[in-house]
Amino acid sequence: MTTQNIWRPGDTIVVQDVWRGRLWTARPMTVVVDDGQHLALWSPKGTVWKGSTTPPSRPRPEERLERILQCLDLCDWILQDRSLEMDLMWLLEPDIGYSVTLNWTGSGQPGSWYVNLQEPFERSHQGIRTMDLMLDVIVRRDGTWSWKDEEEFEAAVERGLLSSGKAAWLRDQAMQAIANVTSQETMFTQPWLGWRPDPAWGIPVLPEGWELT
Ligand SMILES: [Mg+2]
Repeated sequence: MTTQNIWRPGDTIVVQDVWRGRLWTARPMTVVVDDGQHLALWSPKGTVWKGSTTPPSRPRPEERLERILQCLDLCDWILQDRSLEMDLMWLLEPDIGYSVTLNWTGSGQPGSWYVNLQEPFERSHQGIRTMDLMLDVIVRRDGTWSWKDEEEFEAAVERGLLSSGKAAWLRDQAMQAIANVTSQETMFTQPWLGWRPDPAWGIPVLPEGWELT
């Protein structure tokens, strides 16, 4: 039996997206809450993370969608440093196909819920591992919602990068997410309305072993 890692508030972990065994993104995040099941993670504006892009060995498609699809299909991307443009909190629950992101844009209160459809997360030695599955949902505080990046998602299904069964499961997960974030009884809602990070936390940097998959 393997003992799973549980982190303490203030620990820096790496959140990895892994596609077909290769690292797609790596983000350093500060642990806010880890009860062994639920996770709340924090990453302020200015955090440097690794994103994926077209390798220099082939032409770079002009459209972002095409760049993503080709990289996923050919599995030949390279990683590049990117800087986070706003404060983010990621909320995760085990065994579900999404995370919920809250962003703080300066008003002091989080805005809409951003539901990111992704592989259920697994714990690793250095953090957690998942994979972004393109489709997102924005749920506004008044309960109205809309799809985001539906076109990317449909294109990925058309190219066979995601099976139609998986796509149907993800849409079902999205409906559960909408119910979950608007129910007022989950970790995705109340506790974070007035929350601010511990001022002693700096900007997290990728921990050793961030690149290991
Ligand atoms: Mg997404």
